[in-house]
Amino acid sequence: MIHDLHKKLISKELSARELTDSHLGTIAGKDLAIHAFLEVYEDDARRHADRIDAKIAKGESLGVLEGIPIALKDNILVEGKRTTAASKILEKYIASYDASVVSKLKTAGAIILGKTNLDEFAMGGSTENSAFGPTKNPHDLERVPGGSSGGSAAAVAAGMAPVALGSDTGGSIRQPAGFCGVVGFKPSYGRVSRSGLIAMASSFDQIGPFATSVEDAEIVFRAIEGKDSLDQTSTDIKEEVSDKKEFVIGVPEDFLKAGLDTRIRGAMEEAFKKAGSKGFRFEPIALPNAEYALACYYIIVPAEVSSNLSRFDGVRYGVRGDAANLFEGYKKTRAAGLGSEVKRRIALGAYVLSHGYYDAFYLTAQKVRTLVTGDFEKAFEKVDAIALPSSPALPFKFGEKLNDPLAMYLEDIYTVPVNLAGLPGITLPIGKVENLPVGMQLIGKRFADYALLRTAGAFEEAIA
Ligand code: GLN
Repeated sequence: MIHDLHKKLISKELSARELTDSHLGTIAGKDLAIHAFLEVYEDDARRHADRIDAKIAKGESLGVLEGIPIALKDNILVEGKRTTAASKILEKYIASYDASVVSKLKTAGAIILGKTNLDEFAMGGSTENSAFGPTKNPHDLERVPGGSSGGSAAAVAAGMAPVALGSDTGGSIRQPAGFCGVVGFKPSYGRVSRSGLIAMASSFDQIGPFATSVEDAEIVFRAIEGKDSLDQTSTDIKEEVSDKKEFVIGVPEDFLKAGLDTRIRGAMEEAFKKAGSKGFRFEPIALPNAEYALACYYIIVPAEVSSNLSRFDGVRYGVRGDAANLFEGYKKTRAAGLGSEVKRRIALGAYVLSHGYYDAFYLTAQKVRTLVTGDFEKAFEKVDAIALPSSPALPFKFGEKLNDPLAMYLEDIYTVPVNLAGLPGITLPIGKVENLPVGMQLIGKRFADYALLRTAGAFEEAIA
């Protein structure tokens, strides 16, 4: 899509203003029902489009993302704009600088359409934890779009934006992409700068694109990746990608028995059959420690959450509760400003880090993290990528899991191992079951992001 739009822009078949207006029009028409956006920058977007049209009129050359509209998850800072992380505590917070990915997108000339809805501070799998109301799944308005980047996934699925950015700590790009029937790519940990992303769990968080094709996801990834002096965990990787045409995909059979909806398994088998005649081979592999990944994730992530969210104390950022003294102020601000899932994780995190429990929980979970990472390394000795569903179940109805945190956490079983190991993973839509989209992930070697994108592109073509 991006390449086609780019061609139309440079051939003057379509102006940047028309392109932007058409997306703003779709938002105006559909978003009252879907609620993918928390804020739309109509005027800025139109002004930017006009500047690009002026460039085109002068015959200046245009970068591939120049004039292409993009939506951003509202935990990514844009200077001078409200950035809420869908939390009441940041309801009035105006970002004082651009996230590094935003600077890069601005340099590339992409048009920022606005900010999308999410589970508060990216904690959740349905976007129901947003303090500003949930987003609906464009395929069925009674169902959740997934989460936490549900707004970005729904925006792309409903044609309100050609591409969008989300963040993925334990599946928040790949699971909503699956629920909404779009492509969602989580790069290797360290490949994209986290500067200006409101931190959830710093050793897991990673920004990545939503798109309607692997090619578009790659174009956005190329624009935002690379080392950044503002994020010491970011790295420059020189990746040599071979142009091989045959791929071996590992299928962790035992792990797939863990509560996977048989209809999703069926859709995967069908996709394997199609791809099998077009250069793909499927090999059983073992990920013996993957079954412990979820428990391990829900210890380490809350630990990091409890530490990261201590900065939202009513003194430094956002809303402040009226109080007689400092401690009362903390209590009032945090009690009123934070939602129940966020509070649950802060409490859990403080507990697993506390004296007497640190060794039993936090340290043990870190050891399990190393074992899970080792399982993947071993599997990649003989396969190019690993296939997993993007979620164990189809998109569920509103309220179905909201009061049962464990049921909600179980949704993440197939996505969190990838974050524990820092690997790249991409969700591809592979079909529909009962009119609802089904997504499948392909997971690649650490820092072999372009190789994974190539494999995913070939798979996408093979099952088309
Ligand atoms: N659903 C997962 C969680 O609640 C993933 C969140 C994310 O990736 N931001 O932790």
